[in-house]
Amino acid sequence: MRKASHVLRLFTERRASVDVAMLAFRVTLAALDEKVAFAKLKDFDTKFGLGYVFGNQFNAFIEAGGRLVREILAEKEIPARSGKVFEMAGRVFMSIRAWPRDVYGWLDKNRRSFDLLLESESWPNKTAGGDLLFSVGPLTIHNTVGFTGADLASVKGAVGGMVRGIKGLDVPSDIERVLYGDVFIVARLSQGKTMAWYNPDEDRLYVRSAISTGEDDVRFGIHEFGHRYWRRMADTSRKRDWQRHHWDVEGGHGRHLHVEYPKVGDELPWLRFTGLGRNPPNPVVVAVIGTPGHGVGAKYVVEVAGKRGTIRDDSIIEMAMKRSKREAFPTPYSATDEEEHFCEALSLLATGQLREPHLSEFRRIWG
Ligand SMILES: [Zn+2]
Repeated sequence: MRKASHVLRLFTERRASVDVAMLAFRVTLAALDEKVAFAKLKDFDTKFGLGYVFGNQFNAFIEAGGRLVREILAEKEIPARSGKVFEMAGRVFMSIRAWPRDVYGWLDKNRRSFDLLLESESWPNKTAGGDLLFSVGPLTIHNTVGFTGADLASVKGAVGGMVRGIKGLDVPSDIERVLYGDVFIVARLSQGKTMAWYNPDEDRLYVRSAISTGEDDVRFGIHEFGHRYWRRMADTSRKRDWQRHHWDVEGGHGRHLHVEYPKVGDELPWLRFTGLGRNPPNPVVVAVIGTPGHGVGAKYVVEVAGKRGTIRDDSIIEMAMKRSKREAFPTPYSATDEEEHFCEALSLLATGQLREPHLSEFRRIWG
C-alpha cells in the first residue's frame, strides 16, 4: 500500500507515468464518489452551492482524469473496440470549462467513460515499430486513433511536411532543435476546430487526426513547434526585441489611420449582423442622425436584407482601428500577443507565405 502523502508527491511530479496517473485517478474518483454519497444522504439541494460542496474534489478529479488520458495516449495501445468511448472520455476531461450544473447527472452520464479509463490498466503497452508507434524523422509519432492505409499515409505526410518546413528554415539558426520528442495523433479531444496544440508543461505536441497535407494544416503544426522554441529555446534578448517589435506593430497601425465617416448610400462590407446566414449582402447606410465626429453620439441607420439597425459614429472608428490593427500583423491571430505572433510568423516563413515588412523584421530579429 502506498501512503496518501506518497501518492500526492508522485502526483505532483511533472510527468507521471500511467500507473501513477491511474492511482491518482482512482483516489480522486473515490473521494468524489464519497462526497456525493454524503451529499445525497444529507439531501443537499443539487441546484445550489455544489461548487462549494464539491469544488476541491471535482477539480482534483478533472486534473487527474486529464493526466490519465494523456498518459494512456503516451503508453497504452488503445483497443480498436474502445476507441470511440476513449475519445468521449478524453473529451470529458480535456474539454471541460466549468463545473457541471448538475454534478449527480454529470457523474451518471460519464460513468461509462470513467470505467473505461479504469479498464485501461489491462491494455497492453505500446511497442515501437508498428503502425501505432513509429518515427517520422527525429519525431516519435503516437497513432492513438489506430489509423491505417490512406489515413495513416496522410497523417505521416502532414508531419513530414512539418519536419521539412522546419528543416528548410535558416532563421532562427537553431530552429531544428525543436524537432524531437512525441507527437500524438488524436481524435477531437479539445473544443472547437483546433488542429494542433502544444502542452508546455509536458512538452508534448498533439495533432488532430483530421489534419491533412494541406498548406494550412502543415502550417498549424509548425506553429505549435514555434511554441516549443519560444518557451524552451528562444534567446531572452531576442524575445525582448520581438516583444518590442510586436508593440510597434500594435501601436504603429493607428498612426496614419484616416477614417472617413460613411455617407448615405455607402456600403459597409466589414459590418456584420447576426442571423443573416453565411454570405449576407453588404449593409448600406440609409440615414445619418446627427453630425458624426462631434462626440455627441451621432448614429447611422443601416439596412441589410430588409432589416434595419443602428451603429454609433464612435463604433465606426473603433471598428476601423481594430481592422487596421489586425491587418498590420501577418495574420489576425498574430495580434493576440508576441508569442502567438512569433509562432504565426515562423509558420508562415516555413511555408513560404511571410510577406514584407514582416519578413525583414523577422530576419532582423531572429537571424
Ligand atoms: Zn499558438
